[in-house]
Amino acid sequence: MGTLLRAVCNKCGYSNTVNFGAGMLNFTEVCNVPVINKKSGKLEIKNILDKDISKKNYSFYNEPEMYQGEDSGKRHQWGDIF
Ligand SMILES: [Zn+2]
Repeated sequence: MGTLLRAVCNKCGYSNTVNFGAGMLNFTEVCNVPVINKKSGKLEIKNILDKDISKKNYSFYNEPEMYQGEDSGKRHQWGDIF
């Protein structure tokens, strides 16, 4: 089953709840991943398995460039998406 994740910025206090993964009926076609919309700068959720999603428009949070500092080792997994 999908997981609700709480996104929090320790600098400005922004917080939001985001959906990661999918449901039992659609898990072969859907893996919802938090993204930053590169145009608007807003946090959104996109299906990373959707071939029509252009990765040039979004930064997916499972990509290494979205991390800074030490790896805490804490992760959420959906298939081979971490
Ligand atoms: Zn912030």
